[in-house]
Amino acid sequence: MFYKLDINTHAREEFLDITRQVHEVVSRSGVKSGLCHIFVPHTTAGILINEHADPSVVDDIAAKLTDLVPLRGSYQHLEGNSPAHIKAGLIGSSVTVFVEDGLLTLGTWQGIFFGEFDGPRRRQVWLKVVATP
Ligand code: ZN
Repeated sequence: MFYKLDINTHAREEFLDITRQVHEVVSRSGVKSGLCHIFVPHTTAGILINEHADPSVVDDIAAKLTDLVPLRGSYQHLEGNSPAHIKAGLIGSSVTVFVEDGLLTLGTWQGIFFGEFDGPRRRQVWLKVVATP
C-alpha cells in the first residue's frame, strides 16, 4: 500500500511531529507485521526520528543545524536556498520503522518529525507499509 500525507508547514524552518499521522496510515494498512517506509520527496526537507516527549529537543537540533549551516555564507546555488538543501542532506530523506501487532514500534521517547528547511510550503510525505513474514 502506498500513501501520501499532505503536510502544510508554517515557518521557514520547523520540525513537525507527524507520529500520529504515520500511526494512522499503519492502522489503515491492515499490516500486522512488517515495515513502514517513510520517504520525503523534497530536496529542502527531511525526516527525523528523535525525542518527542520534550519539544525543546528538536528546537535544539534546529538551532545547532543553523550554527553548522548559517543562512548567509559563500554558497554557489543561485536559488539562494543552499542552507536548506544542506540541512535536508544532513537529516536525510527516509526512515524505516518496524510494524508489530499492527502498531508502529518506536522507542519510548521517539517520535517522527518532518523537517522543513525552506518553508512555509505545501509538502508531502510518502509511505509504504509492507507485510513481512
Ligand atoms: Zn534550491
